[in-house]
Order: sequence, then C-alpha cells, then structure tokens
Amino acid sequence: MPFFQCDKCKKIFEWDSVSVETCPNCNEKCSFRDVTNYTKDNGGPGNIDTRLIED
Ligand SMILES: [Zn+2]
Repeated sequence: MPFFQCDKCKKIFEWDSVSVETCPNCNEKCSFRDVTNYTKDNGGPGNIDTRLIED
C-alpha cells in the first residue's frame, strides 16, 4: 500500500489512495505527499522512502 505524508503535521498514513482531504491526525485541510518507495533502493518497494520524508 502506498504511504502518504501530511504536509502540515508530517504524520505518515498508509492508504490505497488519497481520498481524504482532511487529515485524521491534525484535522486540517491538508495535501498529502506520496512517500512510497517505488525503487529497489533504501528499503525497496512497499516501504516508505525515507529520503522523501520531510520533518
Ligand atoms: Zn495532518
């Protein structure tokens, strides 16, 4: 499953797709970045690509 990171609270969720507009964690209208790893580097497919995470 893909991973998405909230641009406001930076929490990461595992979702089929981004179908929500309001973040369940911070309850704000947020945009979500796809931080799924699609390459074989840095953990491989199905994992979070830590290089894409903002904190
Ligand atoms: Zn949030």
